[in-house]
Amino acid sequence: MEAKNSDNLGRREFIGMSGLVLAGTFFGPNMNLVQKESPVITIKKAAATAKITATKLRGNITVLEGSGGNISVLHGKDGKLMVDAGIGVSKPNVSAALNAISSDPLKFLINSHWHFDHADGNEWVHAAGAKIIAQEKTKQHLATTVRVVDWDYTFPPAPKSALPTVLFKDEYAMKFNGESIQVKKYSPAHTDCDVSIYFPNADILHVADTFWNSYYPFIDYSTGGSIDGMIKAAKFNVERTTNKTIVVPGHGAIGNKAQLIAFHEMLVTVREKVSKLKKQGKSLTEIIAAKPTAAFDAKWGGFVIDGKTFTSLVFKGL
Ligand SMILES: [Zn+2]
Repeated sequence: MEAKNSDNLGRREFIGMSGLVLAGTFFGPNMNLVQKESPVITIKKAAATAKITATKLRGNITVLEGSGGNISVLHGKDGKLMVDAGIGVSKPNVSAALNAISSDPLKFLINSHWHFDHADGNEWVHAAGAKIIAQEKTKQHLATTVRVVDWDYTFPPAPKSALPTVLFKDEYAMKFNGESIQVKKYSPAHTDCDVSIYFPNADILHVADTFWNSYYPFIDYSTGGSIDGMIKAAKFNVERTTNKTIVVPGHGAIGNKAQLIAFHEMLVTVREKVSKLKKQGKSLTEIIAAKPTAAFDAKWGGFVIDGKTFTSLVFKGL
């Protein structure tokens, strides 16, 4: 199956979760008002039975959707390399999807950042033969107790076997299956350890959670994320791509440069609107009531972050 830029591919990723989204307020500051259970627990439960969809992109790169964030897989005679591992309980379905791509052994896993919906599968992927590569702060967060206030969840330290062992600060490069893979850290954006992964031959850029295709993003202030950082990363992603580049977002359908531009514009416009209201001395409650995201909600508010929650996340960084 060829890569498409339509929405319906990426939406499948969320089928397992979508029934659990309550009143659209799920992943953000107002979560406690509507839901007692942390979304982390809810999402982990759903991941156990989530269907994994494999889509061949270009070259030997396939994307797996369905267990937390999107997973990119490069396969070939050197073995398999994964970008992100999804959620641990999805192991049977993710393993089956990997085996369906090829029988090449698992050799490497690159973590795009520390979040559970991308790195929770580290332990089994490592046990299956992969060395884990990550930005040093990803390891730091995984190795310690981290409380994410907006998820109402405290993550215990990950087991030692789940921790990345190949660490870098700003950039990492490797040759694998004929690709000269380039891994590059962003300035703090969605977290303080986000990285992009570029496959030059295939011209595929995996940007992870610095881009949610057609959805408002979560921003993790607990580990260094901010709206201004998200805007900077979105601009970087636009500059880094051409009209031919295939863009793998953390969540949502496989995307392109035009969609990165639309995402950047949405972030900038919402930030401006919220900032203007805040400068007028309005409280968060008053700003939410003024609906600064109204023009965007139909397009961007259909997943875990609704307009209200996104307004709160933007407000938090101003
Ligand atoms: Zn994330």
